[in-house]
Amino acid sequence: MSSDSPQSSTTLFDQLAARIRLEGAITVADYMSEVLTAPRGKSGAGYYMEGNPFGAQGDFITAPEISQMFGEMLGLWLADTWANMGAPEKVILAEPGPGRGTLMADALRAARMVPDFIRAIEIHLVEVSPALREIQSEALSGFDITWHNAITELPEGKPLLLVANEFFDALPIHQFEKSPQGWCERLITLNENADELVFALGKPSPLIERGLPDSLRNSAEGTVFEHCPASVLLTGEIARRIKQDGGAALIIDYGRDRFEPTPTLQAIRAHQFHPVLEAPGTADLSALVDFPALIGAAEQSGILARGPVGQGTFLKGLGLEQRAEMLRAGATPGQRESIDQALERLTSPEQMGTLFKAIALHHPEQPSPAGFPDRQSS
Ligand code: SAH
Repeated sequence: MSSDSPQSSTTLFDQLAARIRLEGAITVADYMSEVLTAPRGKSGAGYYMEGNPFGAQGDFITAPEISQMFGEMLGLWLADTWANMGAPEKVILAEPGPGRGTLMADALRAARMVPDFIRAIEIHLVEVSPALREIQSEALSGFDITWHNAITELPEGKPLLLVANEFFDALPIHQFEKSPQGWCERLITLNENADELVFALGKPSPLIERGLPDSLRNSAEGTVFEHCPASVLLTGEIARRIKQDGGAALIIDYGRDRFEPTPTLQAIRAHQFHPVLEAPGTADLSALVDFPALIGAAEQSGILARGPVGQGTFLKGLGLEQRAEMLRAGATPGQRESIDQALERLTSPEQMGTLFKAIALHHPEQPSPAGFPDRQSS
């Protein structure tokens, strides 16, 4: 995307500048949602709305794009979890943020080993980008797919199996900063020449103070606290449906397993870090997922949560190394090398193995899904 649409930098900037002139400074959350998912307006569209940012030619590579083995492992996890749910005759198989549809295509191919599972699924994708919907429909041709704009639109009344990879890290976060006057929301506004976006601080507010985790009350000046209400609300919504209709969810993302007050919002363009406020719309924006917050939201809705476990441990627990060995057996030396590289990339602690983590949410009457140690014994 970075290579084909350099102009979107100025156009989305114009749209944001016009909004700031009209409404005043905007929150980081408003900035993220506008930059990532604004529908095409007079002067541009959000980062995900018209392009294909994935892969070597694009801006970043996600796990399913590294290797087919990732989606295959998840397909087996889904079929196994369905069997442990008592193999319901119908199940909603949902994926928010499916990107190029690669994960789902690989998962369904692997899950063909369980034909009753394939017969039971109704596939529902949650995707706001018309460009990506198109790519997903090609990747999944032959399957009956229903698209939705939001998780809240998924049908109810049947058990839910949901899988999300690198979806939650794209949801809008708010940032709060401890200033000499107290806690303030971090905002985004225009510089004096009105030709650049800059960070600013909102008014100090006791409301922010009241919403803070206790551990932050006496923080040093400059401490930044990130909060993603959208993640908490959507996890609560997924959990409510699982509690009501049965089911499970697998969430994989780059994130933290304990709360830390450091800012993590970042922009990536052409596989490099990029200044967050520069040329909006030409780089991906994301923030580390706060897994304890997601787990809290699920437990509050009366379902159980497992993990987080590192992606490496999770995938190896599902048999990734055995799958790689099988693929190596029939491969050319060149292919073998790329299988080994993919295995390393997905699992090693220096790469995606520990920064990326998995959690599972499930109905309390269902057994703990594969790949997660029992909470009591961990
Ligand atoms: N899961 C894919 C893609 C991750 S990128 C993979 O692993 O390769 C993030 C995905 O979430 C994209 O498909 C993007 O269009 C979608 N997305 C981002 N914000 C969204 C939102 N608010 N609602 C629905 N989809 C969103």
